[in-house]
Amino acid sequence: MTADDAADAAPTPLEARLRRLIEANGPITVADYMSDALFHPHDGYYAGGGARAGASPVGADGDFVTAPEISQIFGELIGAWLVQSWIDLGAPTPFNLVELGHGRGALMADALRAAKARPEFLAAARIQLVESSGRLRHEQRQRLIDLGPPIDWADAFADTPAGPFLLIANEFFDCLPIRQFARTETSWRERLIGLGDDGLAFVHAPTPPPATTPLPTRAGVEPGDVYELGEAGEALMEGVATRLVADGGRALVIDYGHAADGCGDTLQAVRDHKPWPPLARPGEADVTAHVNFERLMRAAFDAGAAAAGPVPQGAFLDRLGLAARVERLTAGAPADAAERVRAGAFRIAAPTQMGEIFKAICVSAPGLPPPAGFA
Ligand code: SAH
Repeated sequence: MTADDAADAAPTPLEARLRRLIEANGPITVADYMSDALFHPHDGYYAGGGARAGASPVGADGDFVTAPEISQIFGELIGAWLVQSWIDLGAPTPFNLVELGHGRGALMADALRAAKARPEFLAAARIQLVESSGRLRHEQRQRLIDLGPPIDWADAFADTPAGPFLLIANEFFDCLPIRQFARTETSWRERLIGLGDDGLAFVHAPTPPPATTPLPTRAGVEPGDVYELGEAGEALMEGVATRLVADGGRALVIDYGHAADGCGDTLQAVRDHKPWPPLARPGEADVTAHVNFERLMRAAFDAGAAAAGPVPQGAFLDRLGLAARVERLTAGAPADAAERVRAGAFRIAAPTQMGEIFKAICVSAPGLPPPAGFA
């Protein structure tokens, strides 16, 4: 379906539901829209299965591909990073290996395979997976069951058991709901979603937000600017950092986003590997926003944790040994297989591909050595 076809088609079940809600109660926040578009239990994108019901949203035949789906090297290098971090922590046994939003599970599977070089690491690991999609949980079980460590699922990070932990989250924070605020000539107004002539449309709240809302005040903010507040992501980061300080451990967060706080409308949707209007056919497209790494790191510092980065994904992977890994995998391989390895490495690390827009941060309990890849 094209976006033009979408305008003529009957509304999705979720759009019909949202229109009734807005008619009855007035416009909703962008955060509420994102929550429902992604996670409504019946009609949300991750409940329903994307544009093609029954298919996995992630992967070549889904709506978008992620770095671990593109190249096994991504997960392998992170596996080595995890082993090094475990040693930095003093090799706690047992420890929790937490992944937020595992998708189809490629990252964890490749990381565990790479970690086989350190059997003590695998013997100590208790895998804790935080994943809201039941279908993706099922896929992951099939993929990881033979790799060794015991696996458990939780609905939220707060439900994972206490104790030292290593956490990874790739393309997870971009799914967490954001609020948007638009600058008018005179003040900020929350950007809401109401009803326009052809369905859902952006509107402004009639009054300014409370003065306690952390909006930019500095000179240089222009009428028309949009500021995004990722309250859900910041609250989650505060929770992770608080647990890191209490229990010991490290968290590696990789996502697309901006290193410095600032204005910009980054609400976006993707369907069938192509950009899609974010308000069109909710429930059938993946709706995300860029991560504000500066504010995420500030949330971690405020909770007493140490934080490193952001570093561009390409530089991070280079420092972890991307080139040597490509060399290893291509030596003696048939020409077409070697070409696939090189093409995958290029996509995840080249600045024109995913190497620059994607960034990594590491949040740690205080007092640990600098994490690999961030120096
Ligand atoms: N990390 C994977 C998948 C990224 S897609 C990869 O790199 O391939 C985002 C994943 O996060 C999906 O599996 C989605 O179901 C999950 N997810 C998003 N928000 C979530 C939330 N609030 N709670 C639990 N899982 C969530």
